[in-house]
Amino acid sequence: MYIILLGAPGAGKGTQAIMLAEKKKLVQVASGDLFRKALQQETELGKKAKVYMEKGHLVPDEITIQMVLERLAEPDCKNGAILDGFPRNLEQAKALDKALGQKSSAIDKVVYIKVSEGELLKRLGGRWICRKCQAPYHEVDSPPKVAGKCDRCGGELYQRADDNVETVKKRLEVYFAETSPLIDYYKRAKKLLEINGEGNTSEVNQRILNALR
Ligand code: AMP
Repeated sequence: MYIILLGAPGAGKGTQAIMLAEKKKLVQVASGDLFRKALQQETELGKKAKVYMEKGHLVPDEITIQMVLERLAEPDCKNGAILDGFPRNLEQAKALDKALGQKSSAIDKVVYIKVSEGELLKRLGGRWICRKCQAPYHEVDSPPKVAGKCDRCGGELYQRADDNVETVKKRLEVYFAETSPLIDYYKRAKKLLEINGEGNTSEVNQRILNALR
């Protein structure tokens, strides 16, 4: 089973992908996490991606598509995956359809998490992420039980370098220009499930599970 989580930065894709992956016993494949890991390890891929990520731009398709398809070919993805942050434009969506088609598979559902722009800006402003398991927190809406520590794994929390005001603005611009056309693409393919992404994380998760049923 392949499920895509679609939505703007700050819509809650990361949180919902982790919750959904646990429920469905599937792995979460987050392109942003793969890039951040490469960046941290200072690999060639990380060095290439860094310049784009810092500006809030998309990393070029040839780099991104190869990275994600290689990840999906790993043994733990043999039953499918929850895709978070990929695809982010039509080229990537078509490349993914083609790659899955080649192994007689396909995307099952696309969960589009819809959140107003005002709410997105608010969420990205106070966001903290676990360095170890990538679980996201919000200093007002969903703070950790112990400040600076992840509830799930005890890892250290940090603020993403690209969550600053300027880069957030750019990332939202890029989302509306390049990623939002995917809503129509998957609607036409009759795979889109539109979910109200406002409210607390378990409410949103319940809506997603109901829609997938
Ligand atoms: P995210 O963690 O999904 O918000 O991604 C962080 C950054 O990684 C983005 O702003 C892009 O620079 C890069 N990135 C992540 N996923 C993609 C993708 N599918 N295509 C291109 N760039 C991506």
